[in-house]
Amino acid sequence: MSGVRSLPIRVSPLPGEAIDSWLEAIAHRTGTAFGDLEAALHPDNAAGRVRRPNLWPVHLPPRDVDAIAAAAELPAVAVEAMTLARYDGVALSLEGRKGRATVGFPWGRGRRSRYCPDCLAESGGRWQLLWRLGCVFACIEHSCVLVDACPHCGHLQRDRRPRGTAVPSPGRCAHPNVDTAHRSGLARCGADLASAPVLRLRPDHPALRAQHLVLDVLIAGQGTFGVYADDPHPARAVLADLYALGSRVLAYGTAGEIADRVPTDLAHAFTRSRLSSASPAPTSTRGSELAAAGGAIATAVAVTTAAAVLDRPDITDAGEALRWLVHGGRRLGRQVDAGTVCDWGSATSTRLAATQLAALRPLFARAVDQLRYRTAAAVPSYPAGGDTAIDEAARRIPTLLWPEWSLRFTVPPCSPAQVRPALSAALLLVGTALTVGQAADRLASAVRAAGITRTLACLRNSPRWDDTLTALTRLADHLSAEPPPIDYDRRRRLDYRTLLPDELWDEICRRTGTPPGAGQKADFARCVLFERLSGLPASRSPFLAAGHDVRAKLSEFPRALTPTLAPRLDEAARRFLENHGLGAEPVSWHPPPHLLDGLHPPGPDPTTVDLATLHDLTRRDHTALSEIGRQLDTTLDVIRHLLEKHPAPPSPTAAQRTGRYAARRTAEEASSRSQFVDLYCVQRRTLAEIGALIGVSREVAGQLARHHGITTQTGRPPVDPEWFRKQYVNQRRTLRELGRDVGRDVPQMGRIAKKYSIPIRPPAEAGRARPTE
Ligand SMILES: [Zn+2]
Ligand SMILES: [Zn+2]
Repeated sequence: MSGVRSLPIRVSPLPGEAIDSWLEAIAHRTGTAFGDLEAALHPDNAAGRVRRPNLWPVHLPPRDVDAIAAAAELPAVAVEAMTLARYDGVALSLEGRKGRATVGFPWGRGRRSRYCPDCLAESGGRWQLLWRLGCVFACIEHSCVLVDACPHCGHLQRDRRPRGTAVPSPGRCAHPNVDTAHRSGLARCGADLASAPVLRLRPDHPALRAQHLVLDVLIAGQGTFGVYADDPHPARAVLADLYALGSRVLAYGTAGEIADRVPTDLAHAFTRSRLSSASPAPTSTRGSELAAAGGAIATAVAVTTAAAVLDRPDITDAGEALRWLVHGGRRLGRQVDAGTVCDWGSATSTRLAATQLAALRPLFARAVDQLRYRTAAAVPSYPAGGDTAIDEAARRIPTLLWPEWSLRFTVPPCSPAQVRPALSAALLLVGTALTVGQAADRLASAVRAAGITRTLACLRNSPRWDDTLTALTRLADHLSAEPPPIDYDRRRRLDYRTLLPDELWDEICRRTGTPPGAGQKADFARCVLFERLSGLPASRSPFLAAGHDVRAKLSEFPRALTPTLAPRLDEAARRFLENHGLGAEPVSWHPPPHLLDGLHPPGPDPTTVDLATLHDLTRRDHTALSEIGRQLDTTLDVIRHLLEKHPAPPSPTAAQRTGRYAARRTAEEASSRSQFVDLYCVQRRTLAEIGALIGVSREVAGQLARHHGITTQTGRPPVDPEWFRKQYVNQRRTLRELGRDVGRDVPQMGRIAKKYSIPIRPPAEAGRARPTE
């Protein structure tokens, strides 16, 4: 920095002072023209021409900062602190090209300065850097709204560099005198800005509180008040939010609505400033009022009203505070909805978006919008996530919503067949931009978009839709945070033709004493397993022939389940998964019920049905399940679901029947035919003995004999004719004696003798002494 002379007089910068103000003060104190001061701060360059540093604080390159710091014998940081650099990227952008608005920095570019007359008076005309920020509209110290323009000539202040040939007069308007400008460019307006009229505010005025909030955000570099408390956002985003809301307040708010939201003094000042402006801005461009001559008043109104919204304790509250603005815009014929509120400002935060959506919450007519924008969430949001995220979400959702959940949200006249696919599509819609049709396609739903839309409209018009909406939103969040252990997309694509093969069904029936049925029963069992495994409707299975009658029978199938059969079927499903390399996945799953805590779903609650009564009714006679549902004051689908989850034990007679059946099947397996014939006919064991040998009752042993084509004789072993003849004819033993040996009475022995053509001795001889050998 050789060649830069030290400034002749030291003038210390004031706290918060702008660099232009400080240099002006130096020039004024030393009686130097501003141009001479600039020249003094920079040496001649090689070409001998003076390169003037830009001392106006919009742009000040580092080398100029260094030059000025050297001349003033100040640290460079102290000089830099007087420039707008510290607000670059926060409240404005110094990169912005002339004439083009910089995206994300709506609060102006610091090219002019508001002022506090009292501050100017107290400091001898020194200007604060903050006054150049569009979001600063009040002096906290003097409790007043800042002034935008010269009270005499009406020009904005400090929007151009001072004339190089003049010695500056701090605190005076430096604009050319409008009366003499055409004769001499030298005459200045010279109005005493310190005496400009000002709107004074009481110390607890909401506008001062709003200004405090803004200054706190600038100092902290982030917003932590109100809606930002849970989720602090950078100052830049918070300022953009305030601008977006504030500009809409000015564009959509009527004088009356604004008067309802800011104190009378400010509202009156605002009305006066609007009336005095030569050509009232059309409502669509009223946002520009923030930068206009009456800008500080308009900004005070805008920021005070916007801050009152964003300073609410939560998004819901803030949304309610904002709703009047939605109505205001619509009253003006503006389209104010989720598709347009995002255009209120650029670079705004997700907290503002949430607040806007919360404001629209009761105005969303369609269920699909309520889901898409997550209006039931504490923090609504715009749809996010690309194809990958949607694919992942689709993997987490079965085509038919889990019965544990869908039953709770099924209300007449909708049926579960309509509600289950509709709720699954709805679940996928939460927070995505998918259409209903796309959601249905992603879930391989066979139901068309129109059908799903109709069902959702029906549910939406039912009582407690809000609870349904909240449940779906919670569920979507839960599934995304803790994905289910089942990939439903994969389950939808499995080939189910090998599910529960005939041999396995037969074996299960044999082991559980279940009558195997004539083929349809096995298919019904497969359908139940198919729905459970795939999340698809049974109609999509390879096992169900179409037809109403079949469906009616299928819906009665859960009655056939028993506590011994159901686990065997589950085991078959598990085996199917293992065969497909999915042994690690459970057969079925459903989200935890605690997600419904505090909600009141509109549909029936299966847990309120008394299982003992249900089981009793299920096994009694032939009451249809739908009738049982009526008697238990619930629906057929709840009954079906409960019987699938908790099968009814067989009735006593059925239990005996199935018990015998099972025993016979066991006996059949336990002995071959030749073994049986040997035991029965050759070894002459009784059926009771044979039963004891193979572990069944005498009756079952009898059935086994018939099964092997052997005619039993009242349950006793057949009498061998040779033995009979020898004992009766040769040994001359009596029928009574022989009958005692083989367990028969005299008439029976008589009939056997007749059958074997053995002549019966007359009764007189019956008791005679035995012949000798
Ligand atoms: Zn002040
Ligand atoms: Zn003036």
